[in-house]
Amino acid sequence: KAARFPAHKEIEEFNFDHQPSADRNLIAHLGTGVFLTEAKNVVLLGPPGTGKTHLAVGIGIKAAKAGHRVLFDSATGWVARLQEAHSRGKLPQELAKLRRYSLLIIDEVGYIPFDQDAANLFFQLVSSRYEHASMILTSNLPFARWGDVFGDLTIASAMIDRIVHHADVISLKGNSYRLRKHQTADTTA
Ligand code: ADP
Ligand code: MG
Repeated sequence: KAARFPAHKEIEEFNFDHQPSADRNLIAHLGTGVFLTEAKNVVLLGPPGTGKTHLAVGIGIKAAKAGHRVLFDSATGWVARLQEAHSRGKLPQELAKLRRYSLLIIDEVGYIPFDQDAANLFFQLVSSRYEHASMILTSNLPFARWGDVFGDLTIASAMIDRIVHHADVISLKGNSYRLRKHQTADTTA
């Protein structure tokens, strides 16, 4: 609620047999929240419907239950928030305020490309949290394509460098879980 999760999705509801690329022991470990005390990040990559948001929310719920301050938004939502603060001349204050959250979840990096201002603001968010506080990021695009998202290979590389320096990168695979029932129906028809 306070963390503004888009849906209530727990790790326990996740079917790891359907998604062997997600190591259940690693996800359980992330659920302990130890990574937050080390200001480490988690990056969930993979095609739509493979469970990125589910796992990000599941880890976030565990962190919130353990008393950590957690805030969820889409990448475009975060940029809009920073743009608003920037337009009031309050970007440094906003970044400082956000640093008091142990965990920011940044969902759907890559669905909507950023213009240069948005890319710069996003870079400042990543820089301001580097080695201070954690992020979970999800993206449908591999890192190699983040240059397209941010319209600038230099910014994208500098950002990825900071994100993955202390991070678990989890690449989910396969078809959309949303479509699995249709697929089962197809193969048994
Ligand atoms: P993504 O963010 O990768 O596009 P989501 O996490 O939103 O995908 O997953 C799409 C839907 O399928 C959600 O309702 C989610 O709870 C469910 N889902 C995806 N993968 C699994 C899984 N392995 N086990 C249980 N539910 C899953
Ligand atoms: Mg998603």
